[in-house]
Amino acid sequence: MAKRTVADVDVAGKRVMIRVDFNVPLDKKTGAIADDRRIRGALPTISNVLHRGGSVICMSHLGRPSGDPAKDKFLTMDRVAERLAEVLGVPVTKAADVAGPSAAALAAQLRPGQVLVLENLRFDDGEKDGDEGFAKRLAALADIYVNDAFGTCHRTDASMYAVPQQFPPGARVVGMLVEKELNILQEILGQPQRPFIALMGGAKVSDKIGFIEALLGKVDKILVGGAMAYTFRKSQGQPVGNSLVENDKLDLARALLAKAGDKLVLPMDNRIATSPDAAAVDTQVVQGAIPDGWEGFDIGPATIAEYQRQLSGAKTIVWNGPMGMFEKEPFRAGTIAMAQVLADTNAVTVVGGGESADAVTRFGFDDRITHVSTGGGAFLEYVEGKPFAPLTVIDEK
Ligand code: ADP
Ligand code: MG
Repeated sequence: MAKRTVADVDVAGKRVMIRVDFNVPLDKKTGAIADDRRIRGALPTISNVLHRGGSVICMSHLGRPSGDPAKDKFLTMDRVAERLAEVLGVPVTKAADVAGPSAAALAAQLRPGQVLVLENLRFDDGEKDGDEGFAKRLAALADIYVNDAFGTCHRTDASMYAVPQQFPPGARVVGMLVEKELNILQEILGQPQRPFIALMGGAKVSDKIGFIEALLGKVDKILVGGAMAYTFRKSQGQPVGNSLVENDKLDLARALLAKAGDKLVLPMDNRIATSPDAAAVDTQVVQGAIPDGWEGFDIGPATIAEYQRQLSGAKTIVWNGPMGMFEKEPFRAGTIAMAQVLADTNAVTVVGGGESADAVTRFGFDDRITHVSTGGGAFLEYVEGKPFAPLTVIDEK
């Protein structure tokens, strides 16, 4: 059954508490917002409530506060509230605390069309402890609870799990971002158009075991790139030079390969160098074994061509994990080529994972991907089929 959404409730004259994901990347030196995509991503739900005569209380965590105010000075929500006001085009007030006197006073004054941002949820220990007193104080600020933080749905922090339980039935809903994530993931995992191909890469096999196992049962092919390919290769006894390998995961990699059979495809060539800082002219392409002293940092041109060919015949594609060390110019060709295929195809395309989403966005392909998930760990866990406790306390339609 589908979850009740913000569009299903009458918000006129109501105070609507939205658990958003404003956990934006910050510049380490200045604390400036390095990328405001997550703030802009919350706009559809916020605007929807404001246009229908409700007022909005936004709450989110930001970073990992240490408890030391000097160290945490960049982690207050002041700049986030300022940026929200800019992109929303509506004044935004900010509480000096999470669920204390400032939040209570400002929430009580809220009028339809107005927006309040609470202080960083993790400034209050109640958020991590799942404390009931904290949840009650937060819930007392509003009439309706909206979960629009897909990237945190695999956690049971108070704002995600204890707080919604304080609201009456009918008043616990998901926002438009979460609704979109759930719809697309249910579609591709339930009745995918075939061929259904997964493209997998990234740093470690160990991060993605459950994900690969879950996908093996659903997809027609898994095309592998990134450093994880070397753990698979080494498990087959092939020399991989100094490439990044998880030596304690070789047995597991071998077992996964045996289980997958010819569903799992490994790169046939790689771009290698003696250092990640090598210039493009100092890189080489090898097929098969990687010589001692060399490391694989990207898939090679033959692999790119083969993966392009396979992907262009697919009707559904899910991608997690970059094909190489795309942060470095000489090693981004594989990742860019795959992003290009996903952008050009008419297939349903879904990209999930922190660095994967960054890569398709940085290289300008995100607008032509069906869905770039806002969840990193949450995306992986959802595909694995792990239950999301915060969604169990949201009302059904
Ligand atoms: P995601 O966040 O999308 O799930 P991961 O966190 O698993 O992806 O992996 C992303 C990282 O993997 C990137 O920072 C990239 O530099 C690194 N990576 C990919 N291929 C290689 C490689 N061949 N050698 C070293 N690092 C790699
Ligand atoms: Mg990552």
